[in-house]
Amino acid sequence: MPQEAHVYSYSAVLMGSPILLKLFQHNEHLAHQVFRLIKHYENLLTVNRSPSEVMNINHAAGLHPVVVNPAVYQLIKCAKSASLLPNSAFNLAIGPLVKCWKIGFQGSSVPPADEISTRLALTSPHQVILDDEQHSVFLTQAGMELDLGAIAKGYIADRVRDFLHSQQVFQGLINLGGNVQTLGGASQMRGTPWSVGLKKPFAGPDDLIGVIEVEGKSVVTSGTYERWFEFAGKRYHHILDPSTGYPLDNELHSVTIVSEDSVDGDIWTTLIYGMGVEQGCACLANKPGIEAIFVTKDRRVVLSSQQLFTFTLQDSSYQLAP
Ligand code: FAD
Ligand code: MG
Ligand code: MG
Repeated sequence: MPQEAHVYSYSAVLMGSPILLKLFQHNEHLAHQVFRLIKHYENLLTVNRSPSEVMNINHAAGLHPVVVNPAVYQLIKCAKSASLLPNSAFNLAIGPLVKCWKIGFQGSSVPPADEISTRLALTSPHQVILDDEQHSVFLTQAGMELDLGAIAKGYIADRVRDFLHSQQVFQGLINLGGNVQTLGGASQMRGTPWSVGLKKPFAGPDDLIGVIEVEGKSVVTSGTYERWFEFAGKRYHHILDPSTGYPLDNELHSVTIVSEDSVDGDIWTTLIYGMGVEQGCACLANKPGIEAIFVTKDRRVVLSSQQLFTFTLQDSSYQLAP
């Protein structure tokens, strides 16, 4: 019998992203509860409309600290630590730049250089002041804005996994549009992994470079090809370099991270994207539990290591490098 014969799929659009849930039982009620949970976190974390807890913090920039929900506080604390790593490409305070580029939203354009430098001055993660006792967050300068777009989907994918576990569901898959979290394997038979496609950059949605197989792991991809616009013959994508204010420009088209928790995958895709292949592989050599698949612009697929997944190349125009 085909592997997918007993898989029930449920879909929704939340956080501006297609959401897909796969279960091994027909359970509309459970799917509804999962989508409600995602909506709950979207309402807390969004920066695309008010009110949300993060928007409340942004509106109070330069004025006063804002007490937030403990879960939101912990996520912001985690995002701040990632932002303060040496030479980190991740910056939770990148909001002013995201808002002026508007990449992936209507009206995206290349901002004037002086606007980029003015906004860059409002993105220091050191000026995000946290108070562990109050669970409050204070942005010290007016005009500062948090943006958790690079971490929130991962955090939410993990909460969905935890919720499903609490409902005694130990097999399934949630895809939050680039953040895939798998529970167990892909069949009631033990040892059947889930297959997650590695997308071919700038190709159709079903056009794959290859397939990643995992069980009970998260697979997160960040790429230059999902949200971008073209101006004067040049492509501008949505992962910004916190040191320049412009999209990160290196040899990479995408980075995929396989890890236990999707929040780590989300943070590490951005960190590793900023490092490039060589430095990224060197860094991950000391990080058991976090593994990367790099796709380069010159059509190489580089694997940092392969303890957590297997990868099968399908597109022979790409070259697999160990
Ligand atoms: P990742 O590579 O994981 O993250 C890229 C995103 O992180 C960028 O889009 C930007 O928001 C931010 N970012 C850019 N550079 C950096 C950096 N150096 N450090 C840290 N962060 C950076 N999309 C819509 O179109 N409409 C919506 O209403 C909408 N609502 C959302 C609500 C929530 C709660 C979340 C989490 C996302 C929402 N999105 C929405 C999608 C959002 O705008 C981002 O496009 C998305 O989160 C990017 O995720 P990713 O995994 O594709 O990319
Ligand atoms: Mg990310
Ligand atoms: Mg992401």
